[in-house]
Amino acid sequence: INAEADYAGLLADRKAHIGRNLSISYQEPLKIVRGALQYLYDDKGRTFIDCVNNPSHVGHCHPTVVRAMQQQIATLNTNTRYLHDHLVDYANSLISTLPPSLEVCYFTNSGSEANDLAIRMSRHYTQQQDVIVLDHAYHGTSTVAMQLSPYKFDGKGGFGQPAHTHKALNPDQYRGAYRYDDAQAGPRYAADVQDIISRLQANGKGVAAYICETLLGVGGQIPLPPGYLQEAYAAVRAAGGLCIADEVQVGFGRVGDAFWGFELQGVTPDIVVMGKPIGNGHPLAAVVTTRAVADAFNNGMEYFNTFGGNPVSMATGLAVLQVIREEGLQEHARVTGNYFMEGLRKLKAKHAIIGDVRGHGFFIGAELVRDRETLEPAVPEIDVIVEAMKQRGFLLSTDGPLHNVLKIKPPMVFNKANTDALLHHLDAVLDSL
Ligand code: PMP
Repeated sequence: INAEADYAGLLADRKAHIGRNLSISYQEPLKIVRGALQYLYDDKGRTFIDCVNNPSHVGHCHPTVVRAMQQQIATLNTNTRYLHDHLVDYANSLISTLPPSLEVCYFTNSGSEANDLAIRMSRHYTQQQDVIVLDHAYHGTSTVAMQLSPYKFDGKGGFGQPAHTHKALNPDQYRGAYRYDDAQAGPRYAADVQDIISRLQANGKGVAAYICETLLGVGGQIPLPPGYLQEAYAAVRAAGGLCIADEVQVGFGRVGDAFWGFELQGVTPDIVVMGKPIGNGHPLAAVVTTRAVADAFNNGMEYFNTFGGNPVSMATGLAVLQVIREEGLQEHARVTGNYFMEGLRKLKAKHAIIGDVRGHGFFIGAELVRDRETLEPAVPEIDVIVEAMKQRGFLLSTDGPLHNVLKIKPPMVFNKANTDALLHHLDAVLDSL
């Protein structure tokens, strides 16, 4: 296939009329025209197994979700200024998955917008401005969310670190300051959060919020070390700040052992931000918080969001939760994710380029290195691998500050046969390097 010739007109039009900083995946671009569960089909009739699109949580075009959306959009789509059963039904379903203290929902249309709102709430509640984030984190594309995202503000085209944002160490046990052999790594990384708070206090400041993904996505597919959030949350709360869990990538059963990533750390956040998977690709996101935080935000100014909480989005969200339950997808993610990681660890024993395999359920990373001692990142090898896997029908992606982590977060219906096939082909691609 000569993609450049085949898609020349489309690429030229795109270049002319679409912002040029929208990227296109893969050296040879793909034109996907149809999706069904974990499969994507291009205009040449090729089939790909999707290993990376976590927003299509229960599968591309899942029929239960599609029918619910079709039915509602053919009936009514308005806004939250009218009463509608779906709004409260969905809020009730959502909070039934959360600890009882998290009981008030606000609906938005993207994870960025939800993080933006969560920060605004924390500033109302605490009357403070300063926010602690993790180094290399990404929390979204709105102006406020960008200011929470070292991945953006420290990178090309970024405006640098804002005065109110403070970066804590990325608790990376593979190449960070405290590693897998350190049983106290969690508390040691959390001590860095305490240090930031102490410095703020010494300057007469407080902390509005500490925001952190409960497994790190853009930071490099990193599960948090045991005890990390418990200690970090305790430090933040002792200083009067709020703890925000960004579950946009990892929530909704993906980690298998729990419905939410924060449960793996034995903590309860003050605010949970969710997005991507909850609408199965439809733009739906949410902020769920405590009564006290919601009351402080209910300060006389109306909160109105044109699309947030509309009946079509609510019907979509209800259908996604129904499918997760009916198909046992959380348990499936646990079993199949563990099987997947076992397979990757076998490949690691054979191929020196795989330096680390980590994750939880269907949130998996394989960090590629040229040297297991120096941990030199295997770049550009990783791009060659991703491209070769695409040629073999598997859509993978890369992540991490050094661009050397294979990112695996498939739709939750990804199965054992898909796993076996992927591992077989990855083995062959690594053999051929
Ligand atoms: N938080 C995290 C952890 C994310 O990964 C993303 C998107 N990659 C966002 C927030 C922003 O979500 P959205 O793109 O829906 O605005």
